[in-house]
Amino acid sequence: MSSVSNEKELGRNEILSFMKEENEEKLKELYKKAYKIKLDNVGDKVYYRGIIEFSNICQKNCNYCGIRKSNSDVHRFTMSEEEILESAKWSYENSYGSLVLQSGERQDEEYIEFVTGLIEKIKKLSNGELGITLSLGEQTFETYEKWYNAGAHRYLLRIETSNKELYNKLHPADHKFETRINCLKDLKKIGYQVGTGVMIGLPEQTEEDLVDDILFFKDMDIDMIGMGPYIVSEKTPIGEIAQNSKEIKKKRFELGLKMIALTRIYLKDINIAATTALQALNPVGREAGLKAGANIIMPVITHKNYRKDYQLYDNKPCIDDNAVECKACLENRIKGVGDKIGYGEWGDSLHYKNKKKM
Ligand code: SF4
Repeated sequence: MSSVSNEKELGRNEILSFMKEENEEKLKELYKKAYKIKLDNVGDKVYYRGIIEFSNICQKNCNYCGIRKSNSDVHRFTMSEEEILESAKWSYENSYGSLVLQSGERQDEEYIEFVTGLIEKIKKLSNGELGITLSLGEQTFETYEKWYNAGAHRYLLRIETSNKELYNKLHPADHKFETRINCLKDLKKIGYQVGTGVMIGLPEQTEEDLVDDILFFKDMDIDMIGMGPYIVSEKTPIGEIAQNSKEIKKKRFELGLKMIALTRIYLKDINIAATTALQALNPVGREAGLKAGANIIMPVITHKNYRKDYQLYDNKPCIDDNAVECKACLENRIKGVGDKIGYGEWGDSLHYKNKKKM
């Protein structure tokens, strides 16, 4: 493999060659290059999105997910409106800038209205200052529009893999790849900053698939990426067949960093999250993600009492910490990398802003 080129754009073969690279020195060079591209394009600020996982009730049955509908071992919960608003207020008072509302997927009227009310009330309690990202799965155009009009302005909907065949193995037959793509298109049409992402290191997923995922992000004109290594949830159909040795976990972690670095080098001005899944595999995983080109952190601000019930995968980190402990811990981690924290700022995707200027 050649060293990291200074050309404007990497070609598919070059991305693939880095994806397969195992030489540690060359990988260090790759991460260094990605970090520099981050500094040159989006700067050294890390923006927070405090994440409130407000309900683990889900109508879907994704074959890899710990809170899938048919997992009867999960204790189901929905936080009350008061509890959610309390977390949002904490986020505002601690200058987190933005928050993410995430839950299992529901499409019933009661849920849609509940979310609409939350968005309006969060906007009100923060004088319109808190940015709101939603991560609430597939919805109709009308629902997306309703939530946008209520004040949400970013939406994260992970494609999980851009390989349709693999997607179909990860999901039951009634979960359609095309529906997911159409949802991403609807979100863009409405005006959201659109985020997507993939799981990295899935059974049967190849390095070629991952390269195609990066090309997919570009083709779909995505503004933000939230992706991370696949972490096994044992009581799921995929978890039951997935290998989970120390070596496999190490490979998934390394692929996670390569994906961040190559996505940063290829797409330059988008927002990329250093996800908690990185930290689940390595105690300093999120720092490594920032050093490989990520610029967003999503600290969990879900109330401590509910965290243990919101585990999409096993051994999720920080479930015993409260929001205050998380804040102090993260601050030190980010300073250690040499980045700054964009307290009180939305930190919108530069890619989205640049499009608006055109
Ligand atoms: S991945 Fe999301 S939609 Fe699928 S089962 Fe889990 S919470 Fe539900």
